[in-house]
Amino acid sequence: MAGPEKVDVVMVKRVVKLMNSRGIKVVVNAPARGALALDAEGAAFFLQDEELFWCDFFGTTIEQYRSWYSFEYVERGLCRGVNKKGKRCRKTGISYGKDKGPGKFIVGVSDRCSHHLEKK
Ligand SMILES: [Zn+2]
Repeated sequence: MAGPEKVDVVMVKRVVKLMNSRGIKVVVNAPARGALALDAEGAAFFLQDEELFWCDFFGTTIEQYRSWYSFEYVERGLCRGVNKKGKRCRKTGISYGKDKGPGKFIVGVSDRCSHHLEKK
């Protein structure tokens, strides 16, 4: 695996200037939103720190974004509650809804079936 690449600031500024002058946009796939066109500055921010970019985009903290993303895309929306035997509930069909994005995702509520809702 290659080590971290050294950023050529002059080259980046040149590319940004060229993209802006020609109206070139970069399209990325936004989780829960689909295609999103970025101008040069947006693309630079995205490439620098993708997770931070999405937190800024959705207006969330990094913890909220990570929890939502993991629940929807890694755990596939299975209840995070724990049953009496100490095992994860994993009930299906309780998805908070990818289309809502992470903005109103509440850990202990949005990621639980009705049986495992935490009182907040
Ligand atoms: Zn449950």
